[in-house]
Amino acid sequence: MDADAARVGVMLEQATAVTVLTGAGISTDSGIPDFRGPNGVWTRDPAAERLSSYDDYVRDPEVRRRAWQSRKTHPAWTAQPNDGHHALVDLERAGRLRALVTQNIDGLHQRAGSSQEKVIEVHGTIWAVQCLSCGERSPMADVLARVDAGEDDPACLRCGGILKSATISFGQRLDNDVIDAAGTAAHECDLFLAIGSSLTVRPAAGLCDVAVDAGAPLVVINAQPTPYDDLAEVVLREPIGEILPALVRHGGNA
Ligand SMILES: [Zn+2]
Repeated sequence: MDADAARVGVMLEQATAVTVLTGAGISTDSGIPDFRGPNGVWTRDPAAERLSSYDDYVRDPEVRRRAWQSRKTHPAWTAQPNDGHHALVDLERAGRLRALVTQNIDGLHQRAGSSQEKVIEVHGTIWAVQCLSCGERSPMADVLARVDAGEDDPACLRCGGILKSATISFGQRLDNDVIDAAGTAAHECDLFLAIGSSLTVRPAAGLCDVAVDAGAPLVVINAQPTPYDDLAEVVLREPIGEILPALVRHGGNA
């Protein structure tokens, strides 16, 4: 472990309330594509981002039919958590985790063993479906079974409204309660780790400002430079699946 990583290990040893923010970079080793990274789906094909826009989804049944077909084969159904996800479970078991804020919708933190009450999904989850009219939530598997049975644009069973994965689409309003919880977790932590996030998308990126303004050191672990590198105490570029387990082991040996 080099000097910078060793410094982060010491910071983890001394912290009692770590808030972690994870982005796509922690899930790429699990085979989940990164939409905004250098080789991301949306970086290479900006028009593809528009295809996931909320307004188009509401307006156009054909967009919804395509979305349901695409959900059937989402990589999250078969992806397995990797060593980076497992390291954050270890951090929680060591009693040092305040909250795990994630921009990811893949549910891999919970599948690795992170507690549901620690995980704050600012962009929602692909594992649930929500009615855009009445707000009713149901498991994604139940609705995909209806799609398999021939409903190409299944409607809400309670009110007939449009159903959509419980994720935040381009142009869709964020969930205020979730954003508030993330802000509180950033404000109350004594160390903020931003892992695998480009830190270019609000509100997640702004959590770094909240943590630093509240006096917590910021550590950025990401393969590419981020707009927050200058604000960080330490920036690590190592692969997440290698460096994170080493850091947490270091902290756990205190
Ligand atoms: Zn409904």
